[in-house]
Amino acid sequence: MIRTLGRRAVIAGLLAGALSAFGPAQAQQYPSRPVTMVVPFAAGGPTDVLARTLAVAMTKHLGQTVVVENTVGAGGTIGANRVAKATPDGYTVFIHHNGMATSVGLYRKLSFNPLEDFEYVGQIADVPMTLLGKKTLPAGNLTELIAHLRANRDKITMANAGLGAVSHLCGMLFQKAIGLDLVTVPYKGTAPAMTDLLGGQVDVLCDQTTQTLQHIAAGNVKLYGVTASKRIAALPNAPTLAESGLKDFQVVVWHGMYLPKATPKPVADRLTAALQASLKEPDVRKKLADLGAEIVPVDKQTPEGLRVWLKAEIDKWTPIIRAAGVYAD
Ligand code: ASP
Repeated sequence: MIRTLGRRAVIAGLLAGALSAFGPAQAQQYPSRPVTMVVPFAAGGPTDVLARTLAVAMTKHLGQTVVVENTVGAGGTIGANRVAKATPDGYTVFIHHNGMATSVGLYRKLSFNPLEDFEYVGQIADVPMTLLGKKTLPAGNLTELIAHLRANRDKITMANAGLGAVSHLCGMLFQKAIGLDLVTVPYKGTAPAMTDLLGGQVDVLCDQTTQTLQHIAAGNVKLYGVTASKRIAALPNAPTLAESGLKDFQVVVWHGMYLPKATPKPVADRLTAALQASLKEPDVRKKLADLGAEIVPVDKQTPEGLRVWLKAEIDKWTPIIRAAGVYAD
């Protein structure tokens, strides 16, 4: 009995020690070494560009280097799983987009739970997408593109960044809207997908302005429209897909920053403060605006702002995806 009590006391003591191992003093010292920012898509793509812009600014505000790590594949779910299982000490943070919500409907066996396995730092920015074709496509506008796709449906390929990626979601919605089922080619991010679009190996790609504006401006791809509800400042002459006849077509990519569940609150708060301070930086604001990204209002740059939004997005997309019978596994 005494022995049992003694053992219990030791275990209780160990537990208390473990809990207090990250007490206020440690939180105050945080971060005392570099922070890893996991991006679930390939380097050079839209999510990566956003993350690297933030990593530079957050390095300044945290006083420690923020290093971007690309953990890619399966539409972003491999990166999400990596972070869900990481030590919750604030040294692993995660940036992801709508895929955090859509993966719940797309994957029957998801190895993480977006609502239970993470803490939330805040929302970041919204980015519209553009529908692009390879430069040599003969179609000059959306109507001509749809006619071309219909006439060549067996030969056309549409690239995306895997099931769960927004390029996949946008591509699926587009095909549904025009009543076609095209051959899709999954990549580990839209950076390699864009390389192949530029090289003419694939025909069509839906991708975020954060990556596409430069190629549109250089005339290296054909632009068939933007996926926002209204025209965007970065491409004032480009019609929206809805305006060109695809009624109600709208895909806006939202981004959030996450931490593994049970990351101590003072640490999470420090990251939220660094995120908010970074999003106030004139350099960051200019860079993101130039890329077509719109920083979300400050009340959304909060844990609660992200949590509530993520839950609403899961509730919105899961039944739609399940009703469509689209599964990734
Ligand atoms: N955001 C892109 C997508 O989901 C992937 C990427 O960032 O490379 O399609």
